[in-house]
Amino acid sequence: VGAFVTETGGVSSHAAILARSLRLPAVVSVRGVLQKIRGGERVLVNGTLGQVVLNPSPAQAEEARAEGEKRGELFLPARSAQPVYTADGVPVIFTANLTREDEAADAVRVGAMGVGLLRTEFLFMDRGQFLGEEEQYAAYRHVLESMAPHPVTIRTLDLGEDKHFDFENPVEQASPHCILGWRSIRLSLAHEGVFLDQLKALLRAAAHGTLRILLPMVNGAEEVRRVKELLVQAVDELRARNIPHQDKVQVGVMIETPAAAISPEILLAEADFISVGTNDLVQYVMVADRASEKMHAYYRSCSPIILKLLKNLAHTAGTMGKDASICGEIAGDPRYLPLLLGLGFRSFSVAPVLLLDLVQSAATYRIPECEDLAEKALRMTTADEVEALLIKFSA
Ligand code: PEP
Ligand code: MG
Repeated sequence: VGAFVTETGGVSSHAAILARSLRLPAVVSVRGVLQKIRGGERVLVNGTLGQVVLNPSPAQAEEARAEGEKRGELFLPARSAQPVYTADGVPVIFTANLTREDEAADAVRVGAMGVGLLRTEFLFMDRGQFLGEEEQYAAYRHVLESMAPHPVTIRTLDLGEDKHFDFENPVEQASPHCILGWRSIRLSLAHEGVFLDQLKALLRAAAHGTLRILLPMVNGAEEVRRVKELLVQAVDELRARNIPHQDKVQVGVMIETPAAAISPEILLAEADFISVGTNDLVQYVMVADRASEKMHAYYRSCSPIILKLLKNLAHTAGTMGKDASICGEIAGDPRYLPLLLGLGFRSFSVAPVLLLDLVQSAATYRIPECEDLAEKALRMTTADEVEALLIKFSA
């Protein structure tokens, strides 16, 4: 497959995230495209501009190819991993989001300072079955060894909702309907055998680098406490089997729900770090399905309400001396970078293909101007006003 175009979906739906990871040009939510394209035509897909051109002229095709090459979308340019500083010397960390273990090579190539999010559910969905401890250990170890000495943050299974998988019946894809919130850490805690296999594989891989475990869609302190108990159990089991592993690893939580974002201090008291999953946070706060094109008008990442939550997250983590980063898709959008810096974030995890643009733009900003922008944005009352402000700022 060279590219894809869909009639449905949104920019933060998982098909779009996978496209970014695989560096496949893609345009989503093109209504009527299936009527227009019958088969056999040449189609030019420009994912950067969101353009689909039917039967392009040779000149148009050549122009698109040259642009893709220049932007590093076709051949990922190499860069050594080194700290990035804003124009006034403030360090900013860019790490990589991965969906498969073999994408670690892309993260190394673009000079990521580690992996901020490995979405492990795709390893399972790729193979269409549950992976045992051994197979998971090999995959995680590969990422840790590839990235060393940089830290690797691996998220435990985030199945459910749009990432279907039937735990009872592993080879069948899951039921078409889903229940709100029946996903992520809740599923893992309801299937402790599967979860313990993953925790054991992670602790074993941790012996090969710097691992941080990240828990998806955590909503309450009791979930983190239960995971910590299971980690103790996993350590005991590995010890009894005499298998090399790491006893202690940092455990962080994704901030993806209103409950987590409103009172982050509750989760931060239990967790070593937070990673803000704006893709889900926006859908749950704004009540707008991230994968539905009908919800585009409501799914607004730059709503002042979202910005208030983000500011509080960065501030609370800072005062508690804990690490906070953003791994949702807004972290990969250069238009948001000055705003997110101004709200207090200094660490971002993005698809490798997006990293180079961000590194370059981070070096052009001064923190006081970013803070000024964030203050103005926080005084706005609608997402449209914030968007207009961002456009004016980057003009
Ligand atoms: C998020 O929700 O922002 C996130 C990074 O997780 P995912 O996109 O896998 O749901
Ligand atoms: Mg999420």
